[in-house]
Amino acid sequence: MRAVVVNPKAKSNVEIVEKEVRPLKSGEALVDVEYCGVCHTDLHVAAGDFGQVDGRVLGHEGIGVVSQVADDVTSLKVGDRVSIAWMFQACGRCEYCTTGRETYCRNVQNAGYSVDGGMAEQCIVTADYAVKVPEGLNPAQASSITCAGVTTYKAIKVSDIKAGQWIVVYGCGGLGNLAIQYAKNVFNANVIAVDINDDKLSLAKEIGADITINPLTQGDAEEVIQEQLGGAHAAVVTAVSKAAFNSAVHAVRACGKVVAVGLPSDTMDLSIPRLVLDGIEVLGSLVGTRRDLEEAFQFGAEGKVVPVVQTRCLHDVQDVFEEMEQGKIQGRMVIDFKQE
Ligand SMILES: [Zn+2]
Ligand SMILES: [Zn+2]
Repeated sequence: MRAVVVNPKAKSNVEIVEKEVRPLKSGEALVDVEYCGVCHTDLHVAAGDFGQVDGRVLGHEGIGVVSQVADDVTSLKVGDRVSIAWMFQACGRCEYCTTGRETYCRNVQNAGYSVDGGMAEQCIVTADYAVKVPEGLNPAQASSITCAGVTTYKAIKVSDIKAGQWIVVYGCGGLGNLAIQYAKNVFNANVIAVDINDDKLSLAKEIGADITINPLTQGDAEEVIQEQLGGAHAAVVTAVSKAAFNSAVHAVRACGKVVAVGLPSDTMDLSIPRLVLDGIEVLGSLVGTRRDLEEAFQFGAEGKVVPVVQTRCLHDVQDVFEEMEQGKIQGRMVIDFKQE
């Protein structure tokens, strides 16, 4: 089978190789991959930003159909459509795993980084950790929910937003776009979208944002939000920008929550009086659990959340990585393994 692996000597640090699939071990299933999204995280892995993993099969936005299961597998059967997500497997026994916080397991395995991932014609998964894709959900769109969808859905859950309250989403790209849809259509919140790109803001408006703010032309988002609404009840920051984090801290009202999803390698300014006197909370949120992904998929299947995806054939993978590196891509690029 063909697989996209890390090779620092190849164009965009990736190449397509022919690989033999090993026999299944206890608890495993073989998945014939249909689609796998390409994410900025893949670019970081391929570039060695998290450590050199030459030869690793990339991909954590995989969707495919089970073609074989080990004898002892009971959670999956041949023909099931499942996901291959960043949270590939956790230990299942530690204090995080047993309290609904498995993404923070200290022994977590990540697809396409610490284990071979879904950017290949076939992928071996740990059956109990592969989440089933519900009927009625387009598999190419499901690939996007496997990463961006579940990440933003979980972040909004963490924000504890209630129907009718105001939530501000910083960054309206691949993540923010889905955050707006989940906030609006699943949590019934009122949404303020903040981005420095007018194209992204008009898309945000189209998919349901009630207020859009471009800080470059309309003034600081936190000031506009405080002035118009007396502050938001929560903020979700998907922007990879220190400025967005600093603005979010001032955009929420007293007892508001700021949920961090974007990951700039930076520190944020957080005044201790602001934290104490206004009782605000700042929380990190990392992808989502299997249960979160099941729920995120279900809302996709119900049509409440529609990811914007574009499919490409496997041969194009180096070009896709290059285009992403150069910021030329709008929406999500998904490799279609059936397209030649
Ligand atoms: Zn991803
Ligand atoms: Zn664990």
